[in-house]
Amino acid sequence: NVLRHGRGYPRSRSEHFFKKGRRVFPTGITRVTVDHEPSPLYISRGEGAYLIDVDGNRLLDLNNNFTTLIHGHGFLPVADAVADLLHRGTCFSNPTEHEITLAELLIERIPAIEHIRFVNSGTEAVMFAIKAARAFTCRPGIARIEGAYHGAYDWAETGQAVSPAIWNDPLRSPAVPAYRGMPPSVRDEVTVIRFNDIADLERRIASAAPSLACILIDPMPSRAGLIAPEPSFLAAVEAIAKKYGILIVADEVLNLRQSHAGASARYGLHPDLVAAGKIIGGGFPIGAVGGRKDVMRVFASDSGKPLLPQGGTFSANPVSMVAGRVAMEAMTDGAFAALESLGDGIRAGLRKEIERQGAAFSVTGAASLFRIHPKGKQPTDFREAYLAPEEAELMGRLSRHFLNCGILLPNGAAACLSTAMTTADGDAVVAAFADFLSILEA
Ligand code: PLP
Repeated sequence: NVLRHGRGYPRSRSEHFFKKGRRVFPTGITRVTVDHEPSPLYISRGEGAYLIDVDGNRLLDLNNNFTTLIHGHGFLPVADAVADLLHRGTCFSNPTEHEITLAELLIERIPAIEHIRFVNSGTEAVMFAIKAARAFTCRPGIARIEGAYHGAYDWAETGQAVSPAIWNDPLRSPAVPAYRGMPPSVRDEVTVIRFNDIADLERRIASAAPSLACILIDPMPSRAGLIAPEPSFLAAVEAIAKKYGILIVADEVLNLRQSHAGASARYGLHPDLVAAGKIIGGGFPIGAVGGRKDVMRVFASDSGKPLLPQGGTFSANPVSMVAGRVAMEAMTDGAFAALESLGDGIRAGLRKEIERQGAAFSVTGAASLFRIHPKGKQPTDFREAYLAPEEAELMGRLSRHFLNCGILLPNGAAACLSTAMTTADGDAVVAAFADFLSILEA
């Protein structure tokens, strides 16, 4: 392994751009989740499973634009379809046939979606799902899972940044504000529940129930650990929602890459509304909210004025619609099965190395997603997956080691695969991890 024993990761061109970026952006770049140390990597192009940065380094991309690119970079069918479209106009105030074809495809694949509307991001999809639940139930509140990420809508963000200082203090609510200056009233409308904890769910929902419009849940929340839900927990979510007339909103923005109908289908959750995004745009900005016809009716207008107005200058733009349809059509049963088997192989390989080397690590995830945890016992919820400072430091070392092995491993988020990857790429991931563990041992 030349890079590992050599001079580390060369990035003088990236450093050059970072210097320029710092003159125009408050943090030097406009994204928060990308590692900055000593500079972020500036990308020159993507080729299938690989990224090539401005210094000429070639990296296996396990980030895929935050899980969006299920076919990797420069997927030809999407590139050709979009190139064809570009000459004929990219956005109109009128509808196009392309929005119908993508809608039909998603409705056919996702049983919970009878009607759908397109927006521009997962954040918007979650926001409109929450608003739709409110408009339908005439209630303001939401319940959501501790530590999960649902984008940047205030109510969806509240309760994400929970830490031991909060959960160890009985006087502090897990409905932590998402940012300084957030209106205190937002917190009053958010109930935060622990993942996989039925007692906590029942207690908290019962006390907030009269004002709750929905339970917002990602069945395998990536930032909260990419941990599988207990079937009994999801059954309890459904039972309590039914008991109190609360809608279930499944956030499938990320996990729709698990199967045609996402993680809800895999784990047996039956939502009333679904928020989607990421892969359904084929690499272009997108979000979608869909669900039961009677609930989606809040977007319609019987008397000239919908209960819930929803616009968006770029919503359902033909570029995202066409790219999304082409990308999703290529996600056949066979493509999902191949990704699943690649993912199974990588998770098994990583676990085997952990066992062989007796390391205090564990692996979570499903289908084309995985997360490595510096924990001997596999975490079952966000609190167990939470990293102490020395564990966070270890994970930083792990992703730097992967970089030196030519692999971009997201730190603190789900790693993901694309249909452009091969079993040799999977072997490289396992080998890089084995190498890291052996250095730790040394
Ligand atoms: N919900 C989940 C589960 C996500 O992972 C994300 C993005 O990472 C979002 C919502 C927000 O989507 P977007 O970044 O497109 O606004």
